[in-house]
Amino acid sequence: MKKRIFITLFILIICVSIFYICIKKKVDFKRVELNVSKSVNSNILKSYNLKSFNVNQTKYYQRGGLTIKGDLLVLEGRGQKISLEPNLKGNFIFNFELFVKIDNRISIDVYRNDIKIIKKRFYKTGKKTIKRKLKLSTKDKINIEINGNGAVIIGEPIFYKTKPIEQRQYVFLICADTLRADHLPTYGYKRNTAKNIHSFSKDGVVFKNAYSQSPWTLPSHMSLFTSLYEFNHGMKRGTMLSSGINFLIEEMSQQFSTRSLNGGIYISSRFGFFRGFDYYKSIGNDQGSSYASKNLFNLAIKDIENNNFPRSFYFLHTYQVHSPYNPEIKHLNVFNKDPKYTSLSAPTVGSNHREQFAKLSKDMKYAYIDLYDAEILEFDLWFGKFINYLKKKKIYSNSMIIFISDHGEEFFDHSGWGHCHSLYNELIKVPLIVKFPKEEFRGKNEEKEVALIDIMPTILNYYNISYDNKNVDGLDLIQVLNGKSKDRIIISSITNGFYVPALPFKISIIENNNKIIYNLPYTDKTKSFFTPPPPEYSKYEYYDLSKDSRELYNKYIENMMKVKKFINLFNIIVKKGKINIKRDGEKVTIDKDMINAFKSLGYL
Ligand SMILES: [Zn+2]
Repeated sequence: MKKRIFITLFILIICVSIFYICIKKKVDFKRVELNVSKSVNSNILKSYNLKSFNVNQTKYYQRGGLTIKGDLLVLEGRGQKISLEPNLKGNFIFNFELFVKIDNRISIDVYRNDIKIIKKRFYKTGKKTIKRKLKLSTKDKINIEINGNGAVIIGEPIFYKTKPIEQRQYVFLICADTLRADHLPTYGYKRNTAKNIHSFSKDGVVFKNAYSQSPWTLPSHMSLFTSLYEFNHGMKRGTMLSSGINFLIEEMSQQFSTRSLNGGIYISSRFGFFRGFDYYKSIGNDQGSSYASKNLFNLAIKDIENNNFPRSFYFLHTYQVHSPYNPEIKHLNVFNKDPKYTSLSAPTVGSNHREQFAKLSKDMKYAYIDLYDAEILEFDLWFGKFINYLKKKKIYSNSMIIFISDHGEEFFDHSGWGHCHSLYNELIKVPLIVKFPKEEFRGKNEEKEVALIDIMPTILNYYNISYDNKNVDGLDLIQVLNGKSKDRIIISSITNGFYVPALPFKISIIENNNKIIYNLPYTDKTKSFFTPPPPEYSKYEYYDLSKDSRELYNKYIENMMKVKKFINLFNIIVKKGKINIKRDGEKVTIDKDMINAFKSLGYL
């Protein structure tokens, strides 16, 4: 008996030790809370041109297009000290990012216990990074001493062990805003607009039937990051995402450094898109620019070069193909040797969408399409250069690279222009190509219908990061690829967060190539907003996408029973949408820069 107890105890001790070693070994990335700033007077924030956000006890500070997760120190000639207790043993890299607003000079000294290990002096306002290799003992303290005059945003300190570049894990979520799937050769387009995307697609999975949850930027991206339908996240203009809703980058940041370079405007920080990101940078002055993609990918490469975290998540976004269509002439000439127009804005621009349904000549339509396709070519060129960079640096193979768009663009396919106004496939069918690490599932074409809400659950599951999977609308795409996903419907909707308030509610449901659209009617008043008035829609539309992919023949009468099963669901969604519209969110202030940016995109 005694022997048995002894053996059991021995085995238990061995198991606990193995478990302990495993846990210990796994710590190669640790965030340490700063927790220094007391509530900062709003006048001080104003004087330094700063905005602050506090979401679920996490602080973020924004200046211009840059938002950093961290704390704020306002120096008034007195020195300030921060003490960190990383509670780690071994060799680590200690890293934190800063934004310093200098009045004259700011000095930063870092000590390991009493030994000075970093001495920095800053004379110019701007973003900086402090990084240092350290050998730590469990009880070591890191003391940061800051002196001078000005304000310092200190990013959350991260202690990490780096790895050889080919072993690091990168996730790149790349979004070309406003890119309809059927204008890519990978999705059957006759023009060769994107040879680099096409060759990239062969290393990954092409989801042939991927849908966005909304036909415009703000709610669509919010669905992407929350994995919720637009009527569930309730996001609308002039509000910030409710702190009660999970923004899944927060979960991602448990194990990854989280960074974004993006086009801002309707995905700028003020709506809550900064949440969970260590570094959220909306690039200014590139809206409507021919060089938006070039800027984006060059900045991304610079950021990759400057960082060596073991795991990094990047959200890279550009408005390159969004109106105004303003491509380089050499790209336009690929599709039209003698173009009449070298730059155009969608007919929605300048009319605040009043002319969304204007009938234009066929020549104009093709002029728009040539310009749009040339913008895709421009994006593709820089996308290709970025992929080549990743390959050259040996980053590519171990990376997960996801290529998407948030919605498409209409060229009078259904008597309209631009986006935000309908749920036909030219607006909601988007590219979705996923290259998994080590090219798993390489070359697969997946026909099953999937959605942008599936992306975050896929990434989080793949890297074993826990999240509240009961409160998401999306599912893990790996289940789809393994044929283990249940039958599902994909919903897209316009029920809150309207870009154009005169538009009525619309809901679409797609299920195994059956597509149903539910239209609430215009009122005389909302109809009169548009010149000419919008086309007449029947209350229900039904299309068999396997025979009528362009949704030209409404077969509602013949398929009344298929439509009927969704009527209750439509009513619930409509009710929810109406509640969301009445609900007051946290107000978002729109500043001058924002208005100008909106104007440049044709949003005002
Ligand atoms: Zn968009």
